[in-house]
Amino acid sequence: TGRLVCVGTGMQLGGQISVLSQSYIEIADVVYSLVTDGFSQRWLASLNDNVQSLQPFYALEGELKNRRETYRQMVDEILTQVRLGKLVVCAFYGHPGVFACVAHRAIALARSEGFEAKMLPGISAEACLWADLGIDPGTVGHQSFEATQFLLYDHIPNTCSHLLLWQIALAGEYTLTQFSTTVYKLKILVTHLNQWYPLTHPVIVYEAATLPFQQPRIESITLEQLPYTKLNAVSTLMIPPAKALSFNHQVLEQLGITAANIG
Ligand code: SAM
Repeated sequence: TGRLVCVGTGMQLGGQISVLSQSYIEIADVVYSLVTDGFSQRWLASLNDNVQSLQPFYALEGELKNRRETYRQMVDEILTQVRLGKLVVCAFYGHPGVFACVAHRAIALARSEGFEAKMLPGISAEACLWADLGIDPGTVGHQSFEATQFLLYDHIPNTCSHLLLWQIALAGEYTLTQFSTTVYKLKILVTHLNQWYPLTHPVIVYEAATLPFQQPRIESITLEQLPYTKLNAVSTLMIPPAKALSFNHQVLEQLGITAANIG
């Protein structure tokens, strides 16, 4: 019977995939791929003779296509092969289920039809970010939001912790048809963030290296410079804390301790 395994290839070609994920790619009847560059695509093709890219489902140059339709078509395509009784492996760059809906949807649909389906984790952009920036997200905590969702919904950032905004190059792109945002929309984001962060607050535009000879992009700018900074599809915005952690004295009292008791 058909089976579906969604794996992550990591951010960096060849080296960041788990041994388990790589072996699934090698034994799959069909591999569907969604990776960011031709090198990774060719590397996958060297592991399995039947690798098909899901990239063609994205809108062509000049075509107006909602990304919801793209994702639906991708899931359909994946399920067709599972229904044919194949071992289908989907190889997505990074982590297959982090800020990425296709693997989650394909797995849910496959399971609802009685097929065995699972996800294996991969090294995500965020995993690389903590390593490259030398930050332990546990020191003061962190929050992650998709940039447009952060704008459209009533999210309240915790300014004591790190804040990551994913898909910053699409901030405010609510139509799901464009592949970039505008200075105007980025200014709305800056004004929005300015409720909690000063305009001079340092923020980092981060891009993990995807090829072994590349260096990550770690560009430190001020919040107000964001609309005029080059942003790419792979950029993530990292906003460091603006305030020090403060004690919750009510809980300290319940515990019968004071700030002096905490090392
Ligand atoms: N599943 C991916 C992962 O595990 O990292 C994330 C996919 S999400 C649709 C795309 C967003 O991930 C980008 O807009 C960006 O925020 C982040 N991203 C992807 N590639 C990146 C890179 N090389 N460096 C930093 N962030 C990246």
